[in-house]
Parts: sequence; structure tokens; C-alpha cells
Amino acid sequence: MRTRVGIAGAGAAATAIAARLVDRLDDVAIHCFDSWRLGSSLAFSTTGVGTTCNTSTAANSGYLSALGGAPRDPAVTPMSPSRDFVGRDVIGHAVAATAQRLRDRHRGELHEALGPVVSIRRDGRSLTVESEGSRVDGLRAMFLCRGLTEPTVPPELLDTLAGLGIDSDRIIPSPYPLDTRLRDVHDQRVLVIGSGLSAVEAALALAECGCRVTIASRSGRLPSVRATLPDDPELARWFSSRIRAEVPCNPEHMTRLLFSWFAELGYPLPDGAPTRSLAREIDECTAPRHWAVPIVPLCRAVNALPRFRTVSRAALEAFPFRRHTNALNLPSALRLNHHMMRGAIDVARLGDVIGPSEQFGPRRTRLRDIDTTVLACGWQTQPAPWADASIPTTSSVDAVWYPEPHIVRIGVEAHADIAVPNALFALDQQLADLDAGRHRNRLGA
Ligand SMILES: Cc1cc2nc3c(=O)[nH]c(=O)nc-3n(C[C@H](O)[C@H](O)[C@H](O)COP(=O)(O)OP(=O)(O)OC[C@H]3O[C@@H](n4cnc5c(N)ncnc54)[C@H](O)[C@@H]3O)c2cc1C
Repeated sequence: MRTRVGIAGAGAAATAIAARLVDRLDDVAIHCFDSWRLGSSLAFSTTGVGTTCNTSTAANSGYLSALGGAPRDPAVTPMSPSRDFVGRDVIGHAVAATAQRLRDRHRGELHEALGPVVSIRRDGRSLTVESEGSRVDGLRAMFLCRGLTEPTVPPELLDTLAGLGIDSDRIIPSPYPLDTRLRDVHDQRVLVIGSGLSAVEAALALAECGCRVTIASRSGRLPSVRATLPDDPELARWFSSRIRAEVPCNPEHMTRLLFSWFAELGYPLPDGAPTRSLAREIDECTAPRHWAVPIVPLCRAVNALPRFRTVSRAALEAFPFRRHTNALNLPSALRLNHHMMRGAIDVARLGDVIGPSEQFGPRRTRLRDIDTTVLACGWQTQPAPWADASIPTTSSVDAVWYPEPHIVRIGVEAHADIAVPNALFALDQQLADLDAGRHRNRLGA
């Protein structure tokens, strides 16, 4: 009997789950709800030339092989090119090619661009989904893969900027897509507000268009720097056994354990305290026993241990770990250092920028001289008020085999359940559930 499933989203997770369902279910119809066709990704735009992945080829390799179909590069294994940080368009092309393969192979049973989901209702043993433009019923499962496409725009920040006389038409609420949002900003004085990778990426793009940029954040700190990001299954097993043995009971306990485990392994973490200069972090990041080596194995171990995910995620997403889990890759750090040395980019504390002082930053910039302010304050998933509360929700992909209809969160959408949301490498673990469930459940036999 034909299985009908729905997918909200058309990005990296949506494409991977569609490919996996087509491979594993004998007769499946896929209804893909988004404004775009399957294989369209904001993060991995095929036109995003010049922006590099923050995850290495080694860390991405599981996801790329989970896409299936595409011939696997023999050099792409978990252990080898951990120092390669390829352009994001490389992933974008792999995702788009997978979607095209599904279109060619699954003609007629892949229904795309059905519009953003408006509501999901339960009708007995199946789900009915309404979108801006269509209504589909008889769905066995609905996969939510809406990513983090909604930029966080703190209202109090907008109020403060308005109070300081900055017109809203001089504020760009999100830098993405870079090639359209920042297209008209050249040779200006720009304030970029944010402390993460998006803020740095926007600042680099602007500096390379002749702008003088100040990156401002509450801490005035940049992400740390890594030259390598291997994916070592042996190390993941080591973390897994230590976590189970020592049972972290709260985020502070987990943070202490992490410092001691990294030291025990011979990859000591810097103490979070004083700011290390970018140049120093660049020098240190090529050391053979750098702290970046165990990061992916640690996240993999945590993601595979549901009992410890919440506590671990809280530790990994907070100070001092967040700088390390979401670090700059070496090529981006070198670009940033170059622009800082030539005075095109500087870094300030937000309190100094919007505080009582007339001037801020090493260049003694005045707020009234800023032409454009770009907000790069992170991302969030929109709430899903449209889902019927009686529908069970899970992030286990094998729910497609359950007798009850389920909503299944995958990709970044499942960030409440996985350790580091900003990562493709969590996806191949989620997809592996589908195979495990198939073996467990007679429906898949
Ligand atoms: C600029 C940037 C750079 C990144 N770089 C990396 C990286 O190098 N490595 C890495 O691992 N991760 C990176 N990430 C994180 C990245 O977003 C994820 O790894 C990956 O894109 C997640 O895939 P996803 O399918 O969950 O979300 P996305 O690929 O973002 O797809 C979400 C889709 O959901 C759609 N949608 C939203 N609401 C609805 C609705 N109501 N109904 C239907 N559809 C909806 C959106 O239109 C969108 O198409 C980056 C993120 C950004 C923003």
C-alpha cells in the first residue's frame, strides 16, 4: 500500500529525509510544503560562492553520504579531510542534485512547493495538512524541517536603536542571503550587531565591499578559531562511555567534566576567562593537540544518548563552550585578521556602542557616523501554533513506522533534542533511526 508522508521545508534536512524515504519505502508519495522546490537552502545556497562551511568535509561526510545517489568521494571519510572547509555552495549543489535525482526517479509522486504549512490536523489514523495554497490528507507522518530560517530581532534592541536616533530604514534585520541583503552597502560605516559566525561573515562581506565595520556584541568577543574538525568514531565511543559512567546531573557539572575529559585526552581547553587575541588563537589552532579535535565526537556521543542531551546541550550552548562549538574556521579567521590589521573591521562591546560615551571602539567611532546597522543576532524556529495538540511529536525518524500518525522534527528543527543544532552531522544520526525502525517494525519487513 502506498505510504503518504508530508515534509514542511525544502532545505538540507527535507532533501535528506525525502531521499531516505524513497530509498527505504517501497511505494511512497511525498508532499513537500515550502515556498521553494525541494533542494533550496538558505545556508547552502548554490550562489553563495565565497562563504565557507563552518563544518569540515569530515564532519559533513555522513550527511553527504546520507543524501545517497551521488558517487561518494573516496577521500571523504570521517577521518581524512578534517582540515577542509569547503564553500557552502558545494553542499548546496549536492543537495540540489539529490532533489533533481528524486524528481527524475520519482516523477509524479514528489509534490513540491506546496506553500508554507498553516495547520496540521489529525483525522483518525492520518494527518491533514493545510498550507498557503493546498490541502493534503491521508498522511502517515509529517516531518517538520523548518530549520532556523527566522532571524532573531530583539525588540528591546530595536527600541534602543530608535531611541538613539537610528532610523529603521538604516537597519538591516538579517544579513542573509548575503548577496541580496547586503548588495547595496558599499563604502559605508557599518555597525554589525552579533557575536557569532553570521556577524563575522557579514562583516567580512562588507569589508570586502569597501565598508568600515564595527562588530559589536554584549561580550565584545569573537568566536574562537579552529583549523581542523575531525569526526572520530573511536573518540565518540570514549565520550559515550564516560558520560554514562559519570552521569552529568546539571550543565555546570557537565562543563566541569568536559574540561577534565579534554585535559585527560590531551586536548586541553583554554580557560574561558581573559580574551585571547585573534592572532594568538590563529597561532594556537594548528597545534596537533588542539581542543577542536574532540568537538564532533563529543557532540555525536551526546546526540546518541537521549538521557543526557538536555544537560549536555545546555553546557555546550553556554559560555565558555559556545565559542568553541561554533568556532570560526581558519580560512575565515585569517580573512578576519587581515581586515582587522588594515583597520577595516574592529570589535567593540555593545555597551560601549550604545552607552553614554560619545565614541566607541579603537577607532573612536561615533554612532551618528554609522550609515547602516546590520543585525546578526542569531536564528530561531517559528513556534508551531498550527499543530493539533493531540498529535504526538517526536524527533525519532522511525516514527514513520508507528501505527499512530506522528509529527517528526528533524534537522535544526529538532534543536531542543540535539546537542549542537548548527550542524549537518546531527542529521545522519537522525536518519539512521529510519533504518533501525524498519528492522524493528514488521511494517518495514
Ligand atoms: C548562514 C548559515 C550558515 C550555515 N553554515 C553551516 C555549516 O557550514 N555547516 C552546518 O552543518 N550547518 C550550517 N548552518 C546551519 C544550517 O542551517 C543547517 O545545518 C542546515 O541548513 C539545516 O537544514 P534544515 O533543513 O534543518 O534547515 P534549512 O536548510 O534552513 O531549511 C528550512 C526550510 O524550512 C522552510 N520553512 C520555514 N517555515 C516553514 C513552514 N511553516 N512551512 C513550510 N516550510 C517552512 C524554509 O523556507 C526553509 O526552506 C548554517 C546556517 C546558516 C543560516
